[in-house]
Amino acid sequence: QFIFNMEMAEAEAPMVGGQGLSLMGPTVLIHGTDEQKERLLAPTLRGEMLWSQGFSEPGAGSDLASLQTRAVRDGDEYIINGQKMWTSTAHKSNWLFGMFRTDPDAPKHRGISFMVMPQTNNGISVRPIISMGFEHATNETFFEDVRVPANNVIGEVNRGWYVGMTLLDFERSNIAGAVETRRRLRSLIDYLDTDEGRLRAQDRGQRARALIADRWIESEVLFNFSFRIISMQASGLVPNYEASTSKIFSSELSQRTANTGMKTFGLYANIWDRGHELTPLDARFTQLYVHSVVFTIFGGSNEIQRNIIATRGLALPRS
Ligand SMILES: Cc1cc2nc3c(=O)[nH]c(=O)nc-3n(C[C@H](O)[C@H](O)[C@H](O)COP(=O)(O)OP(=O)(O)OC[C@H]3O[C@@H](n4cnc5c(N)ncnc54)[C@H](O)[C@@H]3O)c2cc1C
Repeated sequence: QFIFNMEMAEAEAPMVGGQGLSLMGPTVLIHGTDEQKERLLAPTLRGEMLWSQGFSEPGAGSDLASLQTRAVRDGDEYIINGQKMWTSTAHKSNWLFGMFRTDPDAPKHRGISFMVMPQTNNGISVRPIISMGFEHATNETFFEDVRVPANNVIGEVNRGWYVGMTLLDFERSNIAGAVETRRRLRSLIDYLDTDEGRLRAQDRGQRARALIADRWIESEVLFNFSFRIISMQASGLVPNYEASTSKIFSSELSQRTANTGMKTFGLYANIWDRGHELTPLDARFTQLYVHSVVFTIFGGSNEIQRNIIATRGLALPRS
């Protein structure tokens, strides 16, 4: 799977399967019943079930276990009311998995259940969030008396926190990130060697060379982080603070790479329009500069990743 993902990224092929293939499927394989596996896995593989993730809420991001969206048992069903935040791709998905509070009196990690549900025509509404880079990638999702059959709970009722944590352990090698950084740098180097590139570059001197060389070396480091994580997974170990290290390095490297492109192109880097005749390299560094701001926030912010490294990796006290 790792080699396949690496080859796909090298070929600039679009990612197939989305969160269904990388997160939901492997989680159902571990925690689902035979009936759930049969019902959910094949349609996900065929691309008929497209998934979004409903974990975060307006008051629960870093402190995810504070989530409040309620699921109340009613006969053979649960009735869900509340709001999820940052449900990426929910506007393109037809199924949602998420964590919901089923016992408000239990300690906060204990009263949560993991459920799946179709997104269509059942009281779920999705409202777009447009990013500062003018992208519609994520949403707010509202639940109004959404009825979910009790057999859509994955794993035990009130033990959904642990199902959710299993899910977050998948696909952490992020080999696509390493390949992509390398490809971006290659495109920059090649472009600077063209006539147009020579005209657009505000800096082709020693400083620009040093910056690009630094990024190239860092991309090599990122490959090694990915290899470390995948080799741990291959030996049956669950990467923990190692994945946090890689997430921090990868997200911050994307931001530094964007910054390097911006510095290289100087004032030309202010052109946002991909198609403008003066735009260097389809504005890909300019747009990355804006889009990569969220890289250090989603998937668990980098501050939280640093907390994980401090406590689990370095055994430092929590406070
Ligand atoms: C573009 C985008 C896509 C996303 N997609 C999804 C998705 O599909 N599904 C989903 O469920 N969620 C998604 N998220 C949510 C994401 O996981 C959260 O935004 C993230 O976990 C941070 O939570 P928060 O936004 O509530 O910020 P908060 O938790 O309120 O944090 C605010 C700031 O305080 C810092 N902070 C908080 N607690 C601590 C602490 N203990 N120590 C040090 N610093 C701390 C944080 O690092 C951050 O800088 C997405 C977010 C973004 C921006």
